[in-house]
Amino acid sequence: MGVETLEPYDDDNIFARILRGEIPAKPVYEDDYAFAFHDINPQAPTHVLVIPKGRYVSWADFAAKAADAEIAGFVRAVGAVARELGIEETGYRLLANAGPHSHQEVPHLHVHIFGGKKLGAMLV
Ligand code: ADP
Repeated sequence: MGVETLEPYDDDNIFARILRGEIPAKPVYEDDYAFAFHDINPQAPTHVLVIPKGRYVSWADFAAKAADAEIAGFVRAVGAVARELGIEETGYRLLANAGPHSHQEVPHLHVHIFGGKKLGAMLV
């Protein structure tokens, strides 16, 4: 399945439901702009997802529509999560899939944070 079109935003997507507390998640961090939680199917020893609290499908959607304070808050939150996870020194990878070519499965913007081991070379 996955994302076939980037818009409109679907309020029933799984991350919207997590934000509303309808589906449980293992939280890592939360502030006014962002929520971070452990990925249910981790691809690395540390695999956390950071999502904005607003209704954005992709990075481009977020960049086009979000207020500057939301963008700044979200970017800062991603940095804060990496720091809190204790992987800032050893290193980590950020990834945000957008649309069908990237295999985006959940149509709510999310940044993957991978770390906790020496990661493989980037594949495209
Ligand atoms: P892909 O699955 O191709 O990586 P995405 O970039 O859209 O596509 O990533 C969605 C991520 O959300 C996946 O890593 C998946 O394991 C994770 N996920 C799906 N459902 C949940 C959930 N209920 N709680 C935590 N993570 C989830």
